[in-house]
Amino acid sequence: MPWMTQWASPHPVFAAGASGARLTDVDGNEYVDFCLGDTGAMTGHAPAPTAAAISDQVGRGITLMLPTEDSAWVGAELARRFGLPLWQFALTATDANRFTIRLARAITARPKVLVYSWCYHGTVDETFAIQIEGETRARPANIGPPVDPALTTTAIEWNDVAALEEALATGEIACVLAEPAMTNVGIVLPEPGYHEALRDLTREQGTLLVIDETHTICAGPGGYTAAHGLEPDFVTIGKPLAAGLPAAGYGMSAETGERVVHHRRMLEASDVGGIGGTLAGNALSLAAMRATLERVLTDEAFERMIALGEQFEAGVREVLSTHEVGWHVSRLGCRVEYAFAPTPPRNGGEAAAYEDTELDRFLHLHALNRGILMTPFHNMALMCPATTAAAVDHHTAAFAEAVEDLFG
Ligand code: PMP
Repeated sequence: MPWMTQWASPHPVFAAGASGARLTDVDGNEYVDFCLGDTGAMTGHAPAPTAAAISDQVGRGITLMLPTEDSAWVGAELARRFGLPLWQFALTATDANRFTIRLARAITARPKVLVYSWCYHGTVDETFAIQIEGETRARPANIGPPVDPALTTTAIEWNDVAALEEALATGEIACVLAEPAMTNVGIVLPEPGYHEALRDLTREQGTLLVIDETHTICAGPGGYTAAHGLEPDFVTIGKPLAAGLPAAGYGMSAETGERVVHHRRMLEASDVGGIGGTLAGNALSLAAMRATLERVLTDEAFERMIALGEQFEAGVREVLSTHEVGWHVSRLGCRVEYAFAPTPPRNGGEAAAYEDTELDRFLHLHALNRGILMTPFHNMALMCPATTAAAVDHHTAAFAEAVEDLFG
Protein backbone atom coordinates (compact mmCIF):
# COMPACT_ATOMS: atom_id res chain seq x y z
CA MET A 1 0.00 0.00 0.00
CA PRO A 2 1.29 3.50 -0.84
CA TRP A 3 0.71 4.72 2.72
CA MET A 4 3.42 2.37 3.98
CA THR A 5 5.95 4.72 2.38
CA GLN A 6 4.37 7.80 3.90
CA TRP A 7 5.62 7.17 7.43
CA ALA A 8 8.02 9.91 8.48
CA SER A 9 10.94 7.63 9.30
CA PRO A 10 13.20 6.23 6.52
CA HIS A 11 11.27 2.97 6.84
CA PRO A 12 8.05 2.27 8.73
CA VAL A 13 8.22 1.31 12.38
CA PHE A 14 7.99 -2.50 12.45
CA ALA A 15 5.42 -3.52 15.00
CA ALA A 16 6.01 -6.36 17.43
CA GLY A 17 2.53 -6.17 18.93
CA ALA A 18 -0.22 -3.90 20.15
CA SER A 19 -2.75 -3.96 22.93
CA GLY A 20 -5.40 -1.38 23.82
CA ALA A 21 -4.01 2.07 22.97
CA ARG A 22 -0.33 1.01 23.03
CA LEU A 23 1.99 -0.42 20.42
CA THR A 24 5.48 -1.90 20.80
CA ASP A 25 8.00 -2.04 17.95
CA VAL A 26 10.58 -4.73 17.22
CA ASP A 27 13.28 -2.69 18.99
CA GLY A 28 11.20 -2.60 22.16
CA ASN A 29 10.11 1.05 21.86
CA GLU A 30 6.61 1.75 23.16
CA TYR A 31 4.16 4.15 21.60
CA VAL A 32 0.82 5.62 22.52
CA ASP A 33 -1.18 4.89 19.40
CA PHE A 34 -3.41 7.73 18.16
CA CYS A 35 -3.31 6.33 14.59
CA LEU A 36 -5.16 3.15 15.58
CA GLY A 37 -4.80 1.58 12.17
CA ASP A 38 -6.39 4.68 10.60
CA THR A 39 -9.68 3.79 12.38
CA GLY A 40 -9.48 0.00 11.87
CA ALA A 41 -8.47 -0.24 15.54
CA MET A 42 -10.68 2.53 16.93
CA THR A 43 -11.81 -0.23 19.30
CA GLY A 44 -8.29 -0.36 20.76
CA HIS A 45 -5.96 -3.14 19.65
CA ALA A 46 -7.09 -6.71 20.27
CA PRO A 47 -10.02 -5.88 22.59
CA ALA A 48 -10.62 -8.88 24.85
CA PRO A 49 -14.30 -9.58 23.96
CA THR A 50 -13.56 -9.56 20.21
CA ALA A 51 -10.38 -11.63 20.62
CA ALA A 52 -12.35 -14.21 22.63
CA ALA A 53 -15.19 -14.35 20.10
CA ILE A 54 -12.67 -14.78 17.27
CA SER A 55 -10.84 -17.65 18.94
CA ASP A 56 -14.13 -19.34 19.81
CA GLN A 57 -15.52 -19.03 16.26
CA VAL A 58 -12.25 -20.19 14.66
CA GLY A 59 -12.86 -23.57 16.29
CA ARG A 60 -16.47 -23.70 15.05
CA GLY A 61 -16.07 -22.79 11.41
CA ILE A 62 -14.57 -19.76 9.69
CA THR A 63 -16.46 -19.45 6.45
CA LEU A 64 -19.59 -21.47 5.69
CA MET A 65 -21.38 -19.69 2.85
CA LEU A 66 -24.40 -19.79 5.14
CA PRO A 67 -25.75 -17.19 7.52
CA THR A 68 -25.18 -17.70 11.23
CA GLU A 69 -27.34 -16.35 14.06
CA ASP A 70 -24.73 -13.63 14.53
CA SER A 71 -25.67 -12.18 11.13
CA ALA A 72 -29.25 -11.58 12.29
CA TRP A 73 -28.01 -10.06 15.56
CA VAL A 74 -25.53 -7.76 13.84
CA GLY A 75 -28.06 -6.72 11.19
CA ALA A 76 -30.58 -5.82 13.90
CA GLU A 77 -27.96 -3.92 15.90
CA LEU A 78 -26.79 -1.90 12.89
CA ALA A 79 -30.46 -1.17 12.11
CA ARG A 80 -30.95 0.07 15.67
CA ARG A 81 -27.84 2.26 15.51
CA PHE A 82 -28.22 3.79 12.05
CA GLY A 83 -32.00 3.71 11.59
CA LEU A 84 -31.87 1.70 8.34
CA PRO A 85 -33.60 -1.70 8.58
CA LEU A 86 -31.83 -3.85 5.97
CA TRP A 87 -28.14 -4.82 6.02
CA GLN A 88 -25.75 -6.81 3.86
CA PHE A 89 -22.13 -7.65 4.64
CA ALA A 90 -18.84 -7.22 2.86
CA LEU A 91 -15.20 -7.50 3.90
CA THR A 92 -14.01 -3.94 3.41
CA ALA A 93 -15.50 -0.47 3.29
CA THR A 94 -14.19 -0.24 -0.27
CA ASP A 95 -16.39 -3.18 -1.24
CA ALA A 96 -19.39 -1.89 0.73
CA ASN A 97 -19.12 1.32 -1.31
CA ARG A 98 -18.61 -0.51 -4.60
CA PHE A 99 -21.62 -2.76 -4.04
CA THR A 100 -23.79 0.16 -2.98
CA ILE A 101 -22.88 2.13 -6.09
CA ARG A 102 -23.84 -0.87 -8.25
CA LEU A 103 -27.20 -1.19 -6.49
CA ALA A 104 -27.82 2.54 -6.85
CA ARG A 105 -27.08 2.40 -10.57
CA ALA A 106 -29.28 -0.68 -10.98
CA ILE A 107 -32.35 0.73 -9.29
CA THR A 108 -32.15 4.25 -10.69
CA ALA A 109 -30.95 3.26 -14.17
CA ARG A 110 -28.65 6.30 -14.09
CA PRO A 111 -24.96 6.24 -14.98
CA LYS A 112 -23.12 8.61 -12.64
CA VAL A 113 -21.98 8.98 -9.06
CA LEU A 114 -21.51 12.35 -7.38
CA VAL A 115 -18.57 12.67 -4.98
CA TYR A 116 -16.82 15.53 -3.24
CA SER A 117 -13.47 16.83 -4.38
CA TRP A 118 -10.61 15.28 -2.30
CA CYS A 119 -12.87 12.65 -0.77
CA TYR A 120 -11.64 9.13 -0.07
CA HIS A 121 -13.96 6.12 0.01
CA GLY A 122 -11.44 3.33 -0.55
CA THR A 123 -10.09 2.12 -3.87
CA VAL A 124 -13.36 2.69 -5.68
CA ASP A 125 -12.79 3.72 -9.32
CA GLU A 126 -15.71 6.16 -9.45
CA THR A 127 -14.40 8.13 -6.47
CA PHE A 128 -10.95 9.07 -7.81
CA ALA A 129 -12.20 12.32 -9.24
CA ILE A 130 -11.66 15.92 -8.27
CA GLN A 131 -13.02 19.18 -9.50
CA ILE A 132 -10.66 21.60 -11.19
CA GLU A 133 -12.00 24.89 -12.55
CA GLY A 134 -15.53 23.52 -12.59
CA GLU A 135 -14.56 20.32 -14.45
CA THR A 136 -14.45 16.75 -13.15
CA ARG A 137 -10.95 15.33 -13.65
CA ALA A 138 -9.07 12.22 -12.57
CA ARG A 139 -7.34 12.65 -9.25
CA PRO A 140 -3.53 12.86 -9.53
CA ALA A 141 -1.76 9.46 -9.32
CA ASN A 142 -4.87 7.47 -10.22
CA ILE A 143 -3.28 4.19 -11.28
CA GLY A 144 -4.79 2.39 -14.27
CA PRO A 145 -8.41 3.59 -14.22
CA PRO A 146 -10.74 1.43 -16.35
CA VAL A 147 -12.17 4.57 -17.96
CA ASP A 148 -11.74 8.31 -17.47
CA PRO A 149 -13.49 9.04 -14.13
CA ALA A 150 -15.20 12.04 -15.76
CA LEU A 151 -17.37 9.48 -17.60
CA THR A 152 -18.60 7.87 -14.39
CA THR A 153 -18.46 10.68 -11.89
CA THR A 154 -19.29 14.28 -11.14
CA ALA A 155 -17.04 15.83 -8.51
CA ILE A 156 -18.09 19.02 -6.75
CA GLU A 157 -16.85 20.91 -3.71
CA TRP A 158 -18.32 20.12 -0.29
CA ASN A 159 -20.68 22.75 1.21
CA ASP A 160 -21.52 24.22 -2.23
CA VAL A 161 -25.32 23.97 -2.52
CA ALA A 162 -25.51 25.69 -5.93
CA ALA A 163 -23.01 23.22 -7.46
CA LEU A 164 -24.98 20.32 -5.99
CA GLU A 165 -28.23 21.66 -7.39
CA GLU A 166 -26.71 22.08 -10.83
CA ALA A 167 -25.14 18.59 -10.87
CA LEU A 168 -28.31 16.85 -9.72
CA ALA A 169 -30.47 18.74 -12.24
CA THR A 170 -28.75 16.85 -15.08
CA GLY A 171 -30.79 13.77 -14.06
CA GLU A 172 -27.65 11.63 -14.58
CA ILE A 173 -26.72 11.04 -10.95
CA ALA A 174 -27.65 7.65 -9.50
CA CYS A 175 -26.28 8.45 -6.06
CA VAL A 176 -24.34 10.94 -4.01
CA LEU A 177 -21.61 9.14 -2.06
CA ALA A 178 -20.55 11.32 0.86
CA GLU A 179 -18.84 11.16 4.19
CA PRO A 180 -21.21 13.18 6.40
CA ALA A 181 -18.17 15.25 7.37
CA MET A 182 -15.03 14.92 5.26
CA THR A 183 -12.19 13.22 7.16
CA ASN A 184 -9.67 12.26 4.53
CA VAL A 185 -8.27 15.68 3.71
CA GLY A 186 -8.26 16.69 7.34
CA ILE A 187 -11.67 17.28 8.92
CA VAL A 188 -14.06 19.43 6.87
CA LEU A 189 -17.35 19.82 8.68
CA PRO A 190 -20.69 20.49 6.97
CA GLU A 191 -21.95 24.05 7.24
CA PRO A 192 -25.31 24.55 8.96
CA GLY A 193 -28.07 23.60 6.53
CA TYR A 194 -25.86 21.66 4.11
CA HIS A 195 -27.20 18.23 5.05
CA GLU A 196 -30.79 19.46 4.87
CA ALA A 197 -30.13 20.83 1.37
CA LEU A 198 -28.37 17.61 0.34
CA ARG A 199 -31.32 15.49 1.46
CA ASP A 200 -33.98 17.77 -0.03
CA LEU A 201 -32.24 18.10 -3.39
CA THR A 202 -31.42 14.39 -3.75
CA ARG A 203 -35.05 13.49 -2.94
CA GLU A 204 -36.35 16.06 -5.41
CA GLN A 205 -34.17 14.70 -8.21
CA GLY A 206 -34.60 10.97 -7.49
CA THR A 207 -30.92 10.58 -6.57
CA LEU A 208 -30.04 8.15 -3.79
CA LEU A 209 -28.03 9.38 -0.82
CA VAL A 210 -25.22 7.11 0.39
CA ILE A 211 -23.55 8.11 3.65
CA ASP A 212 -20.15 6.51 4.27
CA GLU A 213 -19.72 6.21 8.06
CA THR A 214 -16.42 4.30 7.96
CA HIS A 215 -14.53 7.15 9.66
CA THR A 216 -17.40 9.22 11.03
CA ILE A 217 -18.45 6.41 13.35
CA CYS A 218 -16.12 8.46 15.58
CA ALA A 219 -19.12 10.80 16.11
CA GLY A 220 -21.03 8.25 18.21
CA PRO A 221 -22.45 4.72 18.40
CA GLY A 222 -24.64 5.33 15.31
CA GLY A 223 -22.11 7.55 13.58
CA TYR A 224 -22.85 11.04 12.33
CA THR A 225 -26.14 9.74 10.89
CA ALA A 226 -27.66 9.02 14.29
CA ALA A 227 -25.94 11.92 16.05
CA HIS A 228 -27.45 14.42 13.58
CA GLY A 229 -30.67 12.68 12.51
CA LEU A 230 -29.69 12.16 8.86
CA GLU A 231 -32.02 10.12 6.63
CA PRO A 232 -29.83 8.44 4.01
CA ASP A 233 -30.99 5.77 1.57
CA PHE A 234 -27.81 3.76 2.19
CA VAL A 235 -25.15 3.72 4.92
CA THR A 236 -21.77 2.07 4.40
CA ILE A 237 -19.27 1.21 7.11
CA GLY A 238 -16.14 -0.94 7.52
CA LYS A 239 -12.81 -0.69 9.36
CA PRO A 240 -13.53 -0.87 13.15
CA LEU A 241 -16.75 -2.91 12.91
CA ALA A 242 -14.92 -6.12 13.84
CA ALA A 243 -12.00 -4.40 15.63
CA GLY A 244 -9.93 -4.59 12.45
CA LEU A 245 -10.76 -8.11 11.32
CA PRO A 246 -12.00 -7.66 7.72
CA ALA A 247 -15.71 -6.87 7.98
CA ALA A 248 -18.02 -4.24 6.55
CA GLY A 249 -21.71 -3.59 6.12
CA TYR A 250 -24.06 -1.63 3.91
CA GLY A 251 -27.53 -0.80 5.08
CA MET A 252 -30.54 0.47 3.20
CA SER A 253 -33.93 1.97 3.92
CA ALA A 254 -37.09 -0.13 3.56
CA GLU A 255 -38.04 1.70 0.37
CA THR A 256 -34.59 1.25 -1.16
CA GLY A 257 -34.65 -2.42 -0.13
CA GLU A 258 -37.96 -2.91 -1.94
CA ARG A 259 -36.51 -1.41 -5.09
CA VAL A 260 -33.45 -3.68 -4.83
CA VAL A 261 -35.62 -6.78 -4.33
CA HIS A 262 -37.81 -5.83 -7.28
CA HIS A 263 -34.75 -5.37 -9.46
CA ARG A 264 -33.24 -8.62 -8.21
CA ARG A 265 -36.35 -10.56 -9.31
CA MET A 266 -35.86 -9.25 -12.81
CA LEU A 267 -32.35 -10.65 -12.70
CA GLU A 268 -33.16 -14.02 -11.23
CA ALA A 269 -31.36 -15.86 -13.98
CA SER A 270 -28.07 -14.30 -12.91
CA ASP A 271 -25.91 -15.61 -10.05
CA VAL A 272 -22.97 -13.24 -10.51
CA GLY A 273 -24.32 -9.73 -10.30
CA GLY A 274 -21.10 -7.92 -9.42
CA ILE A 275 -22.04 -7.78 -5.75
CA GLY A 276 -20.74 -9.83 -2.83
CA GLY A 277 -17.87 -12.29 -2.59
CA THR A 278 -17.19 -15.79 -1.33
CA LEU A 279 -15.97 -14.64 2.06
CA ALA A 280 -18.45 -11.76 2.53
CA GLY A 281 -20.61 -12.36 5.60
CA ASN A 282 -18.36 -15.19 6.81
CA ALA A 283 -18.99 -16.64 10.25
CA LEU A 284 -15.73 -15.34 11.73
CA SER A 285 -16.31 -11.71 10.68
CA LEU A 286 -19.87 -11.86 12.00
CA ALA A 287 -18.81 -13.27 15.37
CA ALA A 288 -16.19 -10.52 15.63
CA MET A 289 -18.68 -7.81 14.63
CA ARG A 290 -21.17 -9.02 17.19
CA ALA A 291 -18.65 -9.00 20.05
CA THR A 292 -17.32 -5.59 18.99
CA LEU A 293 -20.74 -3.96 18.79
CA GLU A 294 -22.12 -5.67 21.90
CA ARG A 295 -19.13 -5.24 24.21
CA VAL A 296 -16.49 -2.85 22.84
CA LEU A 297 -17.94 0.08 20.86
CA THR A 298 -20.70 0.61 23.42
CA ASP A 299 -22.51 3.84 24.30
CA GLU A 300 -20.39 4.14 27.47
CA ALA A 301 -17.17 3.64 25.50
CA PHE A 302 -18.14 6.46 23.13
CA GLU A 303 -18.86 8.78 26.05
CA ARG A 304 -15.34 8.25 27.37
CA MET A 305 -13.70 8.44 23.95
CA ILE A 306 -15.47 11.67 23.03
CA ALA A 307 -14.53 13.25 26.37
CA LEU A 308 -10.89 12.36 25.65
CA GLY A 309 -11.27 13.87 22.18
CA GLU A 310 -12.42 17.09 23.84
CA GLN A 311 -9.39 16.98 26.15
CA PHE A 312 -7.06 16.42 23.18
CA GLU A 313 -8.65 19.30 21.26
CA ALA A 314 -8.44 21.65 24.26
CA GLY A 315 -4.74 20.80 24.76
CA VAL A 316 -3.87 21.52 21.13
CA ARG A 317 -5.96 24.71 21.11
CA GLU A 318 -4.17 25.96 24.21
CA VAL A 319 -0.74 25.35 22.64
CA LEU A 320 -1.84 27.05 19.41
CA SER A 321 -3.20 30.10 21.24
CA THR A 322 -0.03 30.64 23.27
CA HIS A 323 2.20 30.50 20.17
CA GLU A 324 -0.11 32.17 17.63
CA VAL A 325 1.08 29.94 14.81
CA GLY A 326 -1.98 30.34 12.59
CA TRP A 327 -3.09 26.70 12.64
CA HIS A 328 -6.48 25.39 13.69
CA VAL A 329 -7.78 22.26 15.39
CA SER A 330 -11.04 20.47 14.49
CA ARG A 331 -12.85 17.63 16.17
CA LEU A 332 -15.54 15.16 15.26
CA GLY A 333 -16.45 13.03 18.29
CA CYS A 334 -13.30 11.14 19.25
CA ARG A 335 -11.34 12.22 16.12
CA VAL A 336 -9.18 15.34 16.36
CA GLU A 337 -7.09 16.95 13.66
CA TYR A 338 -4.82 19.97 13.46
CA ALA A 339 -4.04 21.69 10.18
CA PHE A 340 -1.95 24.52 8.81
CA ALA A 341 -4.41 27.37 8.28
CA PRO A 342 -5.90 29.77 10.82
CA THR A 343 -9.53 28.82 10.16
CA PRO A 344 -11.19 25.52 9.26
CA PRO A 345 -11.64 24.91 5.51
CA ARG A 346 -15.03 25.03 3.79
CA ASN A 347 -14.23 22.25 1.36
CA GLY A 348 -11.69 19.72 0.15
CA GLY A 349 -10.08 22.11 -2.33
CA GLU A 350 -9.31 24.64 0.41
CA ALA A 351 -8.00 21.90 2.73
CA ALA A 352 -5.80 20.35 0.02
CA ALA A 353 -4.33 23.78 -0.79
CA TYR A 354 -2.66 24.21 2.60
CA GLU A 355 -1.43 20.64 3.02
CA ASP A 356 2.31 20.61 3.73
CA THR A 357 3.93 17.19 3.42
CA GLU A 358 7.28 18.32 4.82
CA LEU A 359 5.69 19.84 7.89
CA ASP A 360 3.52 16.73 8.33
CA ARG A 361 6.62 14.53 8.23
CA PHE A 362 8.42 16.74 10.74
CA LEU A 363 5.50 16.57 13.17
CA HIS A 364 5.02 12.81 12.74
CA LEU A 365 8.72 12.09 13.27
CA HIS A 366 8.92 14.48 16.23
CA ALA A 367 5.97 12.64 17.78
CA LEU A 368 7.38 9.17 16.97
CA ASN A 369 10.61 10.09 18.75
CA ARG A 370 8.56 10.93 21.83
CA GLY A 371 6.60 7.68 21.79
CA ILE A 372 3.50 8.94 19.98
CA LEU A 373 2.08 7.42 16.82
CA MET A 374 -0.05 9.68 14.62
CA THR A 375 -1.46 8.67 11.19
CA PRO A 376 1.11 8.94 8.40
CA PHE A 377 -1.04 11.46 6.54
CA HIS A 378 -2.18 14.84 7.85
CA ASN A 379 -2.40 15.18 11.66
CA MET A 380 -5.18 12.96 12.83
CA ALA A 381 -5.59 11.52 16.31
CA LEU A 382 -8.23 9.04 17.35
CA MET A 383 -9.22 8.00 20.87
CA CYS A 384 -10.15 4.38 21.64
CA PRO A 385 -11.79 2.91 24.76
CA ALA A 386 -8.34 2.18 26.23
CA THR A 387 -6.89 5.67 25.63
CA THR A 388 -6.02 7.40 28.90
CA ALA A 389 -6.12 11.05 29.94
CA ALA A 390 -2.38 10.74 30.72
CA ALA A 391 -1.69 9.67 27.13
CA VAL A 392 -3.58 12.72 25.86
CA ASP A 393 -1.53 14.98 28.18
CA HIS A 394 1.63 13.30 26.88
CA HIS A 395 0.63 14.30 23.35
CA THR A 396 -0.17 17.87 24.43
CA ALA A 397 3.30 18.23 26.00
CA ALA A 398 5.06 16.76 22.94
CA PHE A 399 2.99 18.94 20.60
CA ALA A 400 3.90 22.04 22.64
CA GLU A 401 7.56 21.06 22.27
CA ALA A 402 7.19 20.62 18.48
CA VAL A 403 5.53 24.01 18.11
CA GLU A 404 8.24 25.56 20.31
CA ASP A 405 10.96 23.93 18.14
CA LEU A 406 9.33 25.32 15.00
CA PHE A 407 8.25 28.79 16.11
CA GLY A 408 9.81 29.28 19.56
N1 PMP B 1 -14.49 5.00 3.34
C1 PMP B 1 -13.79 5.91 4.01
C2 PMP B 1 -14.47 7.16 4.49
C3 PMP B 1 -12.43 5.70 4.30
O1 PMP B 1 -11.74 6.63 4.97
C4 PMP B 1 -11.82 4.51 3.84
C5 PMP B 1 -10.36 4.21 4.12
N2 PMP B 1 -9.59 5.22 4.61
C6 PMP B 1 -12.59 3.60 3.15
C7 PMP B 1 -13.92 3.87 2.92
C8 PMP B 1 -12.00 2.31 2.64
O2 PMP B 1 -11.68 1.45 3.65
P1 PMP B 1 -10.89 0.10 3.30
O3 PMP B 1 -9.53 0.56 2.79
O4 PMP B 1 -10.81 -0.61 4.59
O5 PMP B 1 -11.65 -0.61 2.26
